Amino acid sequence: MRVYNFSAGPSMLPMEVLEEAQRDFLDYNGTGMSVVEMSHRSKPFQAIVDEAEALLRELMNIPEDYDVLFVQGGASTQFEAVPLNLLKNGKADYIVTGNFANKAYKEAQKYGDIACAASSKEDNYTYIPNVDEIKFRDGIDYVHITTNNTIFGTRYTKFPKTDAPLVADMSSNILSEPVDVSKFGLIYAGAQKNVAPAGVTIVIVKKELTNQAMAICPTMLKYATQAPEHSLYNTPPCFCIYMAMLTFRYLKKIGGLAAMKEINERKANMLYDYIDNSGFYTNPVRKEDRSMMNVPFVTPSKELDEKFVKEAAANGLVSLKGHRLVGGMRASIYNAMPEEGIVALIDFMKKFAKENA
Ligand SMILES: *Cc1c(COP(=O)(O)O)cnc(C)c1O
Repeated sequence: MRVYNFSAGPSMLPMEVLEEAQRDFLDYNGTGMSVVEMSHRSKPFQAIVDEAEALLRELMNIPEDYDVLFVQGGASTQFEAVPLNLLKNGKADYIVTGNFANKAYKEAQKYGDIACAASSKEDNYTYIPNVDEIKFRDGIDYVHITTNNTIFGTRYTKFPKTDAPLVADMSSNILSEPVDVSKFGLIYAGAQKNVAPAGVTIVIVKKELTNQAMAICPTMLKYATQAPEHSLYNTPPCFCIYMAMLTFRYLKKIGGLAAMKEINERKANMLYDYIDNSGFYTNPVRKEDRSMMNVPFVTPSKELDEKFVKEAAANGLVSLKGHRLVGGMRASIYNAMPEEGIVALIDFMKKFAKENA
């Protein structure tokens, strides 16, 4: 039996993507071999990388003057790759809106003069600072933001205006809605939340930013190494790129990111509306900053929270335990969570509230 899996990542993938991968697994496209057995220099694999890149460009409307890279190491490796590649004057500003944003900020400090331009830490990251009021320093190489805060359940609805390139960690909301890529110098995202199995990281970088790496930047982390090779400098995460291609095809088929956004808004609104009107559950995040992907909530007590997680799992609603930094519950409702999953969760929440109020 398949469950509704609310894991923050790795997380659900669309059923038809999984089924297609299963059908193809032993014999990809008449090659007589699995994608996981295939040379990354072979024609069939080249076609997979090419299609994945082309589809991502189409879905996100990525301008020509950006490179698209599929690399390894997760978003966490980009926490160091970004400063190593972009710090030509040795200065950057970070907005710290959560745990991953803070990790990125801390990592960058090893390589230059890094300042925190704004933070919502004093309020346990329950909101996004007003981007219009943030003052950035002169002479910085970039501004770093985390567009969706996976643990705390917030997201930017508006981006800071800066003359320096804007760098965004979009790990937990890439492809959930349209974004104007041209507003960013660099976007990166680990795939395991909205795209594919863990193991591939998407980097979308403006070409003019790929040639200013620090001398100590390791070859493998350098965008100038990866970009001309179109993700084939060394052995890439082949199976993950193939899975990403299938997800991109699926997104295109359902109508692209505008259609995906509509579905995601409907799902998130349904859940937030129920929580806000339940008189039993609460979500601590400022309404206008609420994430469409990660919804933290609590019952009136820690004991009930624990009971909730256990009983939900017994009812096929799994991985609802909140992150240890927040406690309570968190429903991660990425692209692949069907609307029926939200309905099932709300039905369970109603029943649980009635029995425990
Ligand atoms: C999950 C996550 C990360 C960490 O990704 P890894 O691929 O595990 O390194 C970083 N940033 C955000 C916003 C995330 O959600």
